[in-house]
Amino acid sequence: MIKVDQLTKLYGKNTAVKSLSFQLSLGNCIALLGPNGAGKTTTLRMMSGLIRPTSGSINLGTSNHKDIRREIGYLPQHPHFHLWMTGKEFLIYVGQLAYLSKKEARKKAELLIERVGLKDAAKRKIATYSGGMKQRLGIAQAMIHRPKLLMLDEPVSALDPIGRRDVLNLMEELKRETTLLFSTHILSDAEEASDEILLMHKGSIVESGPLDQLRKRHHVDKISIQSELPPEVL
Ligand code: ATP
Repeated sequence: MIKVDQLTKLYGKNTAVKSLSFQLSLGNCIALLGPNGAGKTTTLRMMSGLIRPTSGSINLGTSNHKDIRREIGYLPQHPHFHLWMTGKEFLIYVGQLAYLSKKEARKKAELLIERVGLKDAAKRKIATYSGGMKQRLGIAQAMIHRPKLLMLDEPVSALDPIGRRDVLNLMEELKRETTLLFSTHILSDAEEASDEILLMHKGSIVESGPLDQLRKRHHVDKISIQSELPPEVL
């Protein structure tokens, strides 16, 4: 069980994330759904250890810092690739940065590149990859340690329909091996890929649960939700 407790991030006077508490069951796929500025990226960056929370805690069931890095895979919204490298070279490089030996990194790179459907493009420079292929390479990068929790920031929002489909299919497969938490501002992405939704607005979770339950609750309590959220979210 991954437990987030009262997580808060302030930027000066601006509260980006406010007292966020939730639990993730292992093996689930959860969507962090909310409009721009809701606090999704800030949440994922705190959970991945990239930024420090102002207060609150994240419990992954591990205690030391090195363990935590090994338990988490994170793909930022705008990942940085060394475009002059081939996909396989890049994964070997990333594996070594993540403390794998060259031999281990090579083995992992070969397995992962096949896993994300890029075997035929393994020896091509990343500069020649489409957006969807880059995103799948990014997912392979984030999976290099077989993380317990894989977090993807807006993994499909910027993709064309084919790239989107490929990445959603990959996410569907990966949730058999890891807990997946991804952010999106598009309801249909959350609907298609997730078992559960954390609905975020203005730094807080305003609803959570499987989408069908959320819909029923909205029906019962339309006013509070609609007054909280802009129409594009629901
Ligand atoms: P988007 O989809 O647009 O990225 P988001 O839900 O991921 O939105 P965040 O990027 O987490 O939202 O931003 C939440 C709030 O925190 C916004 O008001 C944003 O302006 C603010 N914010 C985020 N990062 C910083 C920063 N480094 N310094 C100051 N304010 C920030």
